[in-house]
Amino acid sequence: MLKLKNIHTYYGNIQALKGIDLEISEGEIISLIGANGAGKSTTLMTTCGIVPAKQGSVKFKGQDITHMPSDEIVKLGICQVPEGRRIFPYLTVAENLDMGAFLRNDNDKIKKDFEYVYSLFPILAERKNQAGGTLSGGEQQMLAISRALMSRPKVLLLDEPSLGLAPIIVKQIFSIIKKINKEQKTTIFIVEQNANLALKAAHRGYVMETGMITMTDTGENLLANEDVKKAYLGI
Ligand code: ATP
Repeated sequence: MLKLKNIHTYYGNIQALKGIDLEISEGEIISLIGANGAGKSTTLMTTCGIVPAKQGSVKFKGQDITHMPSDEIVKLGICQVPEGRRIFPYLTVAENLDMGAFLRNDNDKIKKDFEYVYSLFPILAERKNQAGGTLSGGEQQMLAISRALMSRPKVLLLDEPSLGLAPIIVKQIFSIIKKINKEQKTTIFIVEQNANLALKAAHRGYVMETGMITMTDTGENLLANEDVKKAYLGI
């Protein structure tokens, strides 16, 4: 469904990605793990056109999207939940969700999707008239994921969904991510420092170091890999 081939991405003279190859099939959950500064976020931003690759190609269902503007990429069904959530703090929860459905006009289905995200995260239903900025970090992450779901994405890109959240909330969010993948058949690409949870949730994973992919396997095999255990799981 998504294919990154020999991706090289730069910030000015700094080369952040040095020839990345990565594939995601329809219906998969893929996790990309790695240390701080390895290039995980850049991989996501290159996929969705925010920081385009200088060399290599990104293909979505065979279509070359490497240099497509990011708003066009969103219209194809690739939606990013950025690191740090970035919800609209002065809009209510319901208005934030409405913004996610901005490109749609199928009002009946939008209504059903409101019900669906409220069933995933009942706390958002309770807080639907509250300003987004008054929510806790975990609730804001729930809102950011829900807002992305309101666009009915085919691929959901999640950048560090666990960042700054309490372990119990992180667990809850990962279990909902798996549920979305199962129920909505949404393909999911997660970039995470919490390697343990990310690999447990994933069908397959990639390990990244200093701008390069150094390992790829099933989530299960990576969790059992001695190098991964030492470097990323603290075992
Ligand atoms: P983190 O988990 O800390 O977000 P990451 O694995 O997502 O790390 P990236 O944020 O993709 O890593 O960063 C990859 C490299 O690119 C790093 O060396 C980083 O310093 C550099 N970099 C990232 N953003 C910029 C920027 N806006 N300008 C210059 N260099 C950048």
